[in-house]
Amino acid sequence: MTSISGKTTLDWTGFAAELAPVEVIDEPVLVKKRSRDFFWYSPILDRRLKACFGDLVARPKTRAELSHCLSVAARHRAPITLRGGGTGNYGQSVPMEGGLIIDTTAMGKIVEIGPDFVRVEAGCNILALNNALMAHGRELPIFPSTQDIATIGGFISGGSAGIGTVSHGMLRDAGNVMEIRALSAEEAPREVVFTGDQINMIHHAWGINGVITELTLRTVPTEDWIGCIVTFDSYPACHGAAIDLAQSETIRRKLCSTLDAQIGTYFDKLRGLVPEGRAMLVTLIPRAQMAEFRALMAAHHGTIALAMDEAERLARKLPHVFEFSYNHTTLQALKTDRKVTYLQILFPAPVNVAKVIEVQAALGDDVFMHHEFARMGGQVVSFDLPLVKYTTDARLYEIMDIYAAHGCPASDPHSCIIEEGGMKKADYRHLAWKKRMDPMGLLNSPKSREWARVRGMTAEEIEALHGG
Ligand SMILES: Cc1cc2nc3c(=O)[nH]c(=O)nc-3n(C[C@H](O)[C@H](O)[C@H](O)COP(=O)(O)OP(=O)(O)OC[C@H]3O[C@@H](n4cnc5c(N)ncnc54)[C@H](O)[C@@H]3O)c2cc1C
Repeated sequence: MTSISGKTTLDWTGFAAELAPVEVIDEPVLVKKRSRDFFWYSPILDRRLKACFGDLVARPKTRAELSHCLSVAARHRAPITLRGGGTGNYGQSVPMEGGLIIDTTAMGKIVEIGPDFVRVEAGCNILALNNALMAHGRELPIFPSTQDIATIGGFISGGSAGIGTVSHGMLRDAGNVMEIRALSAEEAPREVVFTGDQINMIHHAWGINGVITELTLRTVPTEDWIGCIVTFDSYPACHGAAIDLAQSETIRRKLCSTLDAQIGTYFDKLRGLVPEGRAMLVTLIPRAQMAEFRALMAAHHGTIALAMDEAERLARKLPHVFEFSYNHTTLQALKTDRKVTYLQILFPAPVNVAKVIEVQAALGDDVFMHHEFARMGGQVVSFDLPLVKYTTDARLYEIMDIYAAHGCPASDPHSCIIEEGGMKKADYRHLAWKKRMDPMGLLNSPKSREWARVRGMTAEEIEALHGG
């Protein structure tokens, strides 16, 4: 079998035979499909990654089968890329050097549901996990808006925040992830258990420094959630209401997002339900707290356009309100206009409307603000994931510079390099663990510019690998 990626010289037929009895996928169309994630959100990443494919997919069902895959790959020095639901949007799960893709979705057992924790295999689908927890009156404190497709291992490796972060903090905040078990990429894979401060050595490391097999996560009581959309005359008015909601000491909101009025014009699924031309606040509120919530919104002159529980949502065949938040906002807009893209900007504490007005005045009419409120280290901050009408790469970076000049730093979602995107700087602790867990540099290595330097690649080689 010839290499699908065109980047490796291994005998992939022999490799697949060695993997037996592990299920493999070698049909080129399917291998190519499983080589993609949502990188196409970015016109820059689309150009860079659309021709990157793996050579073979393995789909282990047990920890022993996963260990066997790693052992075979290590023996052949084959590049390895882990893949859960493939919903990452910086190309985290795209194999840039070809090689073996390990699809974890058949390893999805829920091992134990305790009174306030859950122990689960990495490939477990997040919706299935939340549904199982709800039967016990619990739910995940934080989950991504992609829960229907994403795996818990992919979220902890690739994600950082989500629905619930406004109340429960970032994934990295102490207590949210209690334990991570991971295998090393060696001929005889070793299992390492990460607890306490060590958890952030492997969390959000994009699968470059260990293969997560099992996680123990905090759970919180579930609520009878009412999905709400509130509209306002202006974005600053909407933002002011959101700040009060995010900072409320009593209302247990699970989501607090604000969207510029222009963004709503892209939402086909809300046509006729939510009036166009108005800024939107999107949130999830416990049913028992709706009266208090309605009073807060009225005080800010907001109009509640939608307030529905899960039964009504299902009956009306509507999406969850959180499918208009986080990176789903961009996805909904892309369904209408393939020319839009997005950025990721931090509005640090203390959040305030004046800063939004100041930055908005400096931006052009090609940028529409979209803030997600979050708790970070105990403080309320917001992430602006603005929708941008894409024209040129230079304009995208100019917009990031405008934000930065106003004290709002960008993390570049148009890069597939861990040290540039995902709100991260170079983390040498990740790389120290990579040396221990992946001494041959097989795990998703091109995603780290610093690792390429550690490997002794020249500046030109690094540019060729990362610059495209
Ligand atoms: C529409 C949309 C909305 C989104 N909303 C959110 C959001 O609310 N919050 C958020 O944080 N992100 C969000 N994201 C990004 C993404 O959905 C999350 O990071 C997601 O949870 C990833 O899960 P996944 O199973 O799809 O992972 P994948 O995309 O398959 O993988 C993500 C990364 O984890 C690695 N990985 C996967 N499994 C393992 C494993 N077992 N061991 C080691 N590494 C592994 C992969 O190699 C890759 O680097 C969104 C993306 C889209 C497209």
